[in-house]
Amino acid sequence: MNQEASCRNRKRKRNKRQKNETLETQQNATNAKSNVKESHCTSSVSKSSQKPLSYLDKMKAKLAGGHFRMINEKLYTCSGDEALNYFKEDPSLFNMYHTGYQEQMSRWPEQPVNIIMKWLKDHSASLVVADFGCGDARLSKGVKNKVYSIDLVSNDPSVIACDMSNTPLESSSVDVAVFCLSLMGTNFPNFIQEAHRVLKTSGWLLIAEVKSRFDPTNGGADPEKFSKAVCELGFTTVSKDFSNKMFILLYFKKKPKKSSSQEIKWPELKPCLYKRR
Ligand code: SAH
Repeated sequence: MNQEASCRNRKRKRNKRQKNETLETQQNATNAKSNVKESHCTSSVSKSSQKPLSYLDKMKAKLAGGHFRMINEKLYTCSGDEALNYFKEDPSLFNMYHTGYQEQMSRWPEQPVNIIMKWLKDHSASLVVADFGCGDARLSKGVKNKVYSIDLVSNDPSVIACDMSNTPLESSSVDVAVFCLSLMGTNFPNFIQEAHRVLKTSGWLLIAEVKSRFDPTNGGADPEKFSKAVCELGFTTVSKDFSNKMFILLYFKKKPKKSSSQEIKWPELKPCLYKRR
């Protein structure tokens, strides 16, 4: 093969690889595939300037993408307290994670946090909110409500740093508990249990999660079984919204009566992994 042909070949392969590097959850994401092309680590043009990136910039973006995927996988495959210790050992991993996370989210046509923000704006601003796994605390910044923002690391004085299965919030002190793409730990039922503890009677539980995690035809949990488990914990289902291609939304209310002590059968929630192909 002459030099020109081999160069063309390499270029073709590179283009193919870049095309294939699509955000994809482990087993499904047919929907994701159609919408979320090009993960952050593959774009070769800077969005702001539209200038081609240098080789070094591309390398850095690739490494950042790798770090993001590694931290993401860790968070989905360990318990909340392990995740807390993980970030305690190296808090810089948290920023690394969120840089990658924001990149991924910028490719979603709609952000679930905005839907939740709108929901809050359509309700009373006097509702006290707990945002479990708040990330960059965007929710608290976008609404008038009092919001307790909770995450594993606090980069903002308003964020309470803790494992969300064990928060310092008073029992029966909040009106709305939000989990926006944050049911990541293997002990996610403990997170919902904690939300139940801090919610007032008739308080709202809002859950937004990646759709493929709730696709039983592809290894995801059955949303009915999940809702049933949440209800056994002491909630009633108010509504479900499966209309978005990327995420589902579940709305519950806390029941006045205490839940029974019978053991709840929670479906497994498969990790949402991002992989390079
Ligand atoms: N809700 C935000 C961020 C979602 S990313 C948004 O929609 O933009 C998920 C967040 O959940 C991450 O910031 C992660 O650190 C947090 N998280 C995961 N497990 C947690 C735990 N056990 N305790 C507190 N926060 C947790």
